[in-house]
This record gives sequence, structure tokens and C-alpha cells, in this order.
Amino acid sequence: MAKVHQETAENIKLLANALQKGELVAVPSETVYGLAANAFDETACRKIFKIEGRPFNDPLILHLDSLESLDLVAERNEAVERLAETFWPGPLTLILPKKKSVSDLVTSGLNSVAVRIPGHPVLRKLLRACQCPLAAPSANPFGYISPTTSAHVEKGLGDKISYILEGGPCQIGIESTIVDLRDPASPSILRPGGISSETLSSVMGLSLAPSQPAKETAAPVAPGLLSKHYSPKKQLLLRSTPFDKAELQKLQKDDAALCFKRPNKALPLGGNIFWLSESGSAEKAAQNLFSILRQLDEGPWGSTTAELAPETGIGSALNDRLRRAAAKS
Ligand code: AMP
Ligand code: MG
Repeated sequence: MAKVHQETAENIKLLANALQKGELVAVPSETVYGLAANAFDETACRKIFKIEGRPFNDPLILHLDSLESLDLVAERNEAVERLAETFWPGPLTLILPKKKSVSDLVTSGLNSVAVRIPGHPVLRKLLRACQCPLAAPSANPFGYISPTTSAHVEKGLGDKISYILEGGPCQIGIESTIVDLRDPASPSILRPGGISSETLSSVMGLSLAPSQPAKETAAPVAPGLLSKHYSPKKQLLLRSTPFDKAELQKLQKDDAALCFKRPNKALPLGGNIFWLSESGSAEKAAQNLFSILRQLDEGPWGSTTAELAPETGIGSALNDRLRRAAAKS
């Protein structure tokens, strides 16, 4: 059974030792909680796939403590420095040519590797203490809603792992943006995430096309990126326009509504109307998304209809998660 460890110097040392010995530790990050293993220990990394039921063709992201450790696992190019300077530590993952030190298991046989330097101070302490890159996907049974609190991790994987490191609720709330930087002259966004395509494009001085919304993508743009993902057990329907007052008043008891922004306070709320943000902040909405989707999945409602966010900034990443969560296959 998993034990949640508070962030004390003693516990960081204990968990760093566990990682060095090939055990797994669920760790906080600014995006979502991850299930981490020493990236250089293939046996430990294999356990991640087994415990999560993750297919071996879905490669893992490596979490590093510094740019110096990047050289241990990937080939740099001129665009890396610029992006790293602006966005690391932070929710940006880069796909780069891999070095031999990284096993095929971690990259699913690809000759590239996904890397990021996370910003969460507790995870950074652990990374410094264990002195190895950590391979870590989100800490949930494969395909289910990602965890943004230690309690979510406990609920999903608590009977399969021993260690969870507490780091509070995740500040970004959705996964990192993944940029394919194998060819620095033509970077592309493989997965929208914590950093918007608009911000990335302005820093890179060239237009980075956001990847297509999940439902319009015929084939996955990156291995493991599936149209159906982050999936609740109950039915999730989407709508692109906000609910109006009359629609909310007519909502059936068995159905829930998930608004992007808190509806008019005068509205009689029957306990089945939820909202992602108080005042329409896409950042707040992203922070709350997975927690509220879990709450809805555990509640008495048969189905939920969710409003999509305005398709701009982090709203695009939020909509990507909603579309994948609502996809049936
Ligand atoms: P997550 O499951 O949220 O940790 O995200 C991992 C995702 O990163 C995978 O599903 C892939 O889509 C992507 N990824 C990891 N490594 C690579 C790689 N070498 N090339 C392309 N995409 C990758
Ligand atoms: Mg995941």
C-alpha cells in the first residue's frame, strides 16, 4: 500500500535511495503527478509499463535537473538553448535525437528521446538528490484521467506502489507541451500543453502550428498519443457554445453540466452544475479540469455535458484533453 511522504529532507533522501535501488516513486510536478523510475535502470522503467498497463509503444518522458544532464541523454541543437532559457524549468518537453545511454524500452525503439526540466520545487529537490534522470509518465492506470493531487494517485495506483511524494495540487493541471525539435529548422507541436503555441511561436520567431484537435486526427501524431485518452468511465459530451440559463434550469437530475465559467449566481443550482473557473480564466480552468472530471466520474450523474473553452492560449490544450476524454475510440 502506498504511503504519502511529506517533503522533508529525510524523506527526500529516503525516496532518492529508493529510486536508485530501482523502486518507483509517484512524484508531484507542475503539470500532473508522475510515476517515476531511474531512467537508466531498464528493469525499473519496465515496472512503470506493467503497473500502469501502459503499452510498450508509448514512450516515456525523461525529467532532468539541469541542462548539463541533458548532454547525458540527448543531442543538443541551436534551438534548444533558446527554448531552455525561456521555458525551463517548466511545462515544455522537447523531442531530440537520443544518445546510446537511453534504452529502447524508454523510447519505444525510437532514435529520439523526450526530455524536460520540471519546475516543481519538490520534484527538483528529489532530482538533485537522486542524481539520475527520472522517466515518468502520468501516475494513473493507462487511459484514465491524469492525477493532479496525491489523493488521485493513491486512488488509482495506491495498491500497486509503495511511495508517493506530496507536492500539493498541480499548478498547471495538464501535461507539458511537446515540441519535436529533431530538426530545429522545422519544429512542430506534437501535443498542446502548459505552454501555448502562441507563446512558443513568438519566442522561436516562427509559426509553430498547433497539432490538430484529437477528433480530427486520423493517425496519432506521436506514438502513444491516442484520440481516446484521459477517459472517464461515464459518458462525456461536448458543446462549443456556453449553456444558456434556460438550458441549465431544464437540466435533468441524472445529467451534469460542466461550464467553462461560473454561471450567473442567481441561477438555482441543483448540485449538478459545475464550472472550471470562476471568471473565465483558462489557466484556472486547466488547473481544475482533471480534478473536476474525476469528481463527476465518481458522482451519481449518468452523463456530463462540458463546454469547450475559447480556442486560444492554454484553452487549446484544455480542449484537446476534453476531446480525448469524450472520444469513444
Ligand atoms: P505522458 O504519457 O503524458 O508522459 O506523455 C508521453 C508522451 O510523450 C507519449 O505518449 C508520446 O506521445 C510522447 N513522446 C515521448 N517520447 C517521444 C519520442 N521520442 N518521440 C515522439 N513523442 C514522444
Ligand atoms: Mg499520461
